[in-house]
Amino acid sequence: MRRYARTFTSRQDCYSIQTEEGRYITLKRRFQLDYVQAHLKGLLTLGAYALDEKSQARWLCLDADSPEQWAELLKMARDLAQDAVTAYLEPSRRGGHLWLFFSPLSGAAARRFGQNLTERYDLEGIELFPKQDALTTGPGSLVRLPLGRHRLTGQRYHFVTLDGDPIAPTVRKQVRLLSTPQLVPQDYVRAVNKDVQLPETVSSKPLFPEARAEVTGATLSERLKNAISVYDFVRRYVDLDANATGYCPFHDDTRKSFGVNQEENFWHCWAGCGGGSLIDFWMKWREKEGLDASFTATIKALAEMLLPR
Ligand SMILES: [Zn+2]
Repeated sequence: MRRYARTFTSRQDCYSIQTEEGRYITLKRRFQLDYVQAHLKGLLTLGAYALDEKSQARWLCLDADSPEQWAELLKMARDLAQDAVTAYLEPSRRGGHLWLFFSPLSGAAARRFGQNLTERYDLEGIELFPKQDALTTGPGSLVRLPLGRHRLTGQRYHFVTLDGDPIAPTVRKQVRLLSTPQLVPQDYVRAVNKDVQLPETVSSKPLFPEARAEVTGATLSERLKNAISVYDFVRRYVDLDANATGYCPFHDDTRKSFGVNQEENFWHCWAGCGGGSLIDFWMKWREKEGLDASFTATIKALAEMLLPR
């Protein structure tokens, strides 16, 4: 339940509920986990704000209003699946929501990703949430928290597979699946946002321009550690400030627990996620992404990313 709430709700200091007329009102009271329980039971219906107080997004929601638009989103979801990107489909009466989940991204980056996708698929009239790059006043845009009842229609909508079957037979099981959604890999977001080349083209243009061309070391892991500094590697994946600290990608971080010691060349999370070399970082990263996080698989992947061929 907590993790389901964490997937969708970005704020603790306020929340929003749908009125019987279908509008949303914001309540400036502390969010309680019990409300999610009540939402799933259909006693009330919550809205989920797209941005947190720092204007970061954990999800992007594409909203289709018509069967035609929904068909376009389904096509996009199929293509994304080919790229190993999981889109979560929540059809409603006429259209539906396509959800994509991330490690926290700036609202601007999330929207850019959404805009680039809708351009790529020539989608017209699809609404993107978050609607704002960053918050100015108020908590910004919101989407109905899934798996509750729409107040006006009384309908409850489920998540479905690409074939239109429910992703799990019961609401409880759907909640469980959405508690740890598959995240869009950060490399993929960057590639779509054109900051770097697609991972497939790493060999033609390095993803890590800082990586040294001549690398020495007796073992593969030594050569990897000599290829690039922890700082230059990690900052591709974690937004680091001037003190080389940032929000830890490995836990629900609200206080910048993550840092890189540039002199000693290691990373560390003060909240207990561990630390170490870039290999340790990449093992944890792969684990988070649901990839084979064994030492062997990790150094193999790093060698492809970092070592000259
Ligand atoms: Zn951590």
